[in-house]
Amino acid sequence: MRLVVGQKTDVGRVRDGNEDGVLVNDDIGLFAVADGMGGHRGGEVASATALEALRAAVSSGKAIRDAITDANDAVIERSLADTNLSGMGTTMTAGTVAAGDTLLVGHVGDSRAYLARDGELRQITEDHSLVEELVRGGELTPEQAEVHPRRSVITRALGIEADVDVDVYPVELQDGDRVLICSDGLTTMVRADDILGILEREPDAQRAADRLVDAANAAGGEDNITALVIDAVRDGAGGGVSAPVAPTRETDVAPADAPPRRRKRGRVLLRIALWVLPVLVVLAIAFAAVGWYARRTYFVEITDNCRTNVTTTTAATAEGPPGTCVTLFKGVPGGLLGWDPTVEENRVDINTEELTPAEINDLEGGKRFSSEEDAEAYLTNLVESTATTTTTTTTTTTTTVPPPPAA
Ligand code: MN
Repeated sequence: MRLVVGQKTDVGRVRDGNEDGVLVNDDIGLFAVADGMGGHRGGEVASATALEALRAAVSSGKAIRDAITDANDAVIERSLADTNLSGMGTTMTAGTVAAGDTLLVGHVGDSRAYLARDGELRQITEDHSLVEELVRGGELTPEQAEVHPRRSVITRALGIEADVDVDVYPVELQDGDRVLICSDGLTTMVRADDILGILEREPDAQRAADRLVDAANAAGGEDNITALVIDAVRDGAGGGVSAPVAPTRETDVAPADAPPRRRKRGRVLLRIALWVLPVLVVLAIAFAAVGWYARRTYFVEITDNCRTNVTTTTAATAEGPPGTCVTLFKGVPGGLLGWDPTVEENRVDINTEELTPAEINDLEGGKRFSSEEDAEAYLTNLVESTATTTTTTTTTTTTTVPPPPAA
């Protein structure tokens, strides 16, 4: 079987750069489309890095699944090496010619491979996208998925996790088969029927790829568009792969020549999730740390109105005369980031009239302790010091006296 290949990648009419990449290498029988994502040129780097690693792996004799795993490793390695690129990722749909006339299609993401045969277009790959999962789960109809606002959110990509699940589909090629590998910039703009119509009307592989890109642009060109058309042709000589196609660049990334017309759409949700999740985790840890700090300390303060001890959590509040109570709080005076102090204990057994100016000064704004034991010891001292200086006071107690009943 001889393969004739045509390919085109285009920035589209909305995006300001082309993050798609396409690879055609006839020598090793490898054909691939990658659709990158990630800010700061990350998408372009991700797709190009993945395609180069894929090429190297297939060249060294690796099978398609292992080659795509290598591509995943390469993207992760690259994104770890440059913080500007962190969070970048890419789809990968790649065909390799295996023994005989078998095309093995390896696939991760929402780029697609189709087989046009006998006037019908069959989708070879299954999208790893949010809407496809909803369709499979019966929550969306295929028609709803086509126009769903989150249809470009993908659930599997290269460069995200060390372990990547690669789907592999074998296709037994027959004479006259036409395989299309394309990015979602084509399939979200052009209906499958129209794709088939173009593939049927245009016999030349290169011109078919051009027409598909034209159609996506005519429909709005909202994303980068890549079409790779592979024709299987039986010829007498048989065996081997040859490509009489005009020179092809191995990774064809279009220049950023189109002016931005509006804000980028598409994989925004996945991208946001990749950036926001770590930030949220850090914030949650910081919040918990503040809470731990705010709640591990104690302070003692003179209070006007003693409320019931928190250990007797009745709704009733017992109030003493102003300034007659010393209260032990758990927390930080005034609270910290929403972590408010709570009353641990009210002490009405401390004669606040007898507190020295130094003690009052200490208690002003809350005297802080790092443990409840220290605070209790301090309170016990206060009970004793205020009682002993008051010679007319007859009772001395070192235990907590329950607050007086409500008036
Ligand atoms: Mn895309």
